[in-house]
Amino acid sequence: MGKDIPRHPFIVIVVLGVPGVGKTTVLNNLVKFAKEKQIRIVIKNLGDYMLREALKHGFVSNRDELRYLKIRQQLELQLLAAKSIIQDAYKELSENDVLIIDTHAVIRTKYGYWTGIPRQLIDELKPDAFIVIEADVNEIISRQLRDKSRYRADFAKPEIVSELMELTRRNAFSAALFNSSLVRIVLNREGEAENAAKEILEVIEGLR
Ligand code: ATP
Ligand code: AMP
Ligand code: MG
Repeated sequence: MGKDIPRHPFIVIVVLGVPGVGKTTVLNNLVKFAKEKQIRIVIKNLGDYMLREALKHGFVSNRDELRYLKIRQQLELQLLAAKSIIQDAYKELSENDVLIIDTHAVIRTKYGYWTGIPRQLIDELKPDAFIVIEADVNEIISRQLRDKSRYRADFAKPEIVSELMELTRRNAFSAALFNSSLVRIVLNREGEAENAAKEILEVIEGLR
């Protein structure tokens, strides 16, 4: 591939969606299907990388506290996370393997909306594609409420979820301009996370 082409040797897919829509669940399903097709994929959760660094410094005690940190602190953690993910990916992946990053297009902080995919992060990740996972607003809220492992009470209103979904789409398309990326919207229907995973697998097959 020419040196001016903004791509890593492996395929990079950034997965976006509002809290509780089912990104992590769908991606867990994807691992199984990719194995069946002998496609090597590695999934990295950007929040895991931010959390690891923030825990080291005692800034937070769990992942749902990250969005309450001061914005400059979140920005530093966000970019550090992107750099570490790419560093790790170069160790773990070869050409034609797939790196999937489980993250957010928009962070609803206590101070306002903040971009999860700024220019500097896109320059690091060089995504081939953004996949936006969506679902029915009321289904998302009931998923948030059912999932006791996370604190998502600050999102649990239809108008907040709708607004975040709208901003997520817009931000995905804006970020796609930075790196000539594909954008795909995938509906994660209730009880059908496997089907959403299969749709993502089709996108991967098209990108390789
Ligand atoms: P966050 O951005 O906060 O990490 P997420 O998008 O990764 O959220 P998950 O943790 O995957 O969301 O899912 C939230 C809850 O919804 C979980 O309890 C999960 O089991 C459930 N869930 C996910 N997808 C579906 C689905 N298709 N049908 C029913 N329940 C689902
Ligand atoms: P998640 O488990 O995907 O919800 O990630 C945990 C937390 O990490 C999120 O609630 C955010 O506070 C933070 N986070 C994840 N991705 C990003 C991102 N791209 N930019 C800023 N913060 C992020
Ligand atoms: Mg998740």
